[in-house]
Amino acid sequence: MAKGLLVSISGPSGTGKGSVLARVKEKDQSFGTSISVTTREPREGEKDGVDYYFKSKEEFMKMYEEGEIIEYDEFVGNYYGTPTVALQDMSEAGTDVLMDLTIAGSMALKENFEQSVTIFLLAPSYEELEKRLRGRGTDSDEAINARLEMARQETNYVGHFDYVVVNDDIEEAANKILAIIKAEKCRCARNIDLLEDVLKINKEMEGK
Ligand code: 5GP
Repeated sequence: MAKGLLVSISGPSGTGKGSVLARVKEKDQSFGTSISVTTREPREGEKDGVDYYFKSKEEFMKMYEEGEIIEYDEFVGNYYGTPTVALQDMSEAGTDVLMDLTIAGSMALKENFEQSVTIFLLAPSYEELEKRLRGRGTDSDEAINARLEMARQETNYVGHFDYVVVNDDIEEAANKILAIIKAEKCRCARNIDLLEDVLKINKEMEGK
């Protein structure tokens, strides 16, 4: 059986990763979820083992050293990592997994798993990104400027990803991500069993 794809979406904050991923999962409910481990404090309403596994820095590093975390990155002072076993189990069972990872996280996935698919989500423009960040009403001018500067640095990495999707419309961006996943499943390299069957049938027909 073909392994499930490990699909990671990265992009600067404000590009709408959360909303687009939620829409993709609404449209196709077969995706598996990888619950990450983090050292940040839970936000209101977040539950341990549902939104994240919340750990201390010591616990986190111990898990990493023991191979329980397959990749990790630091994001605004906290560690975030992907648990190894759950991810491998889902993929082995043929379940596609959708993940929201930092850029380094997506790159680590690409390096380590041939069944990975990395997608960079872009805002339509910096003007629009700034509008969205301001629209949240949660950050100071200084914090918004810092996020915009970070976005400029992050978008330098877009060419390292397999795909780029511009999020000017959530529905359209979600459809594009689903189309990418469908196309990836049709790659010859991901259908070796099928190709072997075709060749076998052709051989049998030759002998008749
Ligand atoms: P938040 O604190 O808003 O929940 O997450 C911050 C960022 O951490 C997200 O935008 C997401 O890209 C990243 N993130 C969440 N889990 C993981 C993970 O397991 N690995 C990596 N590399 N990044 C993660």
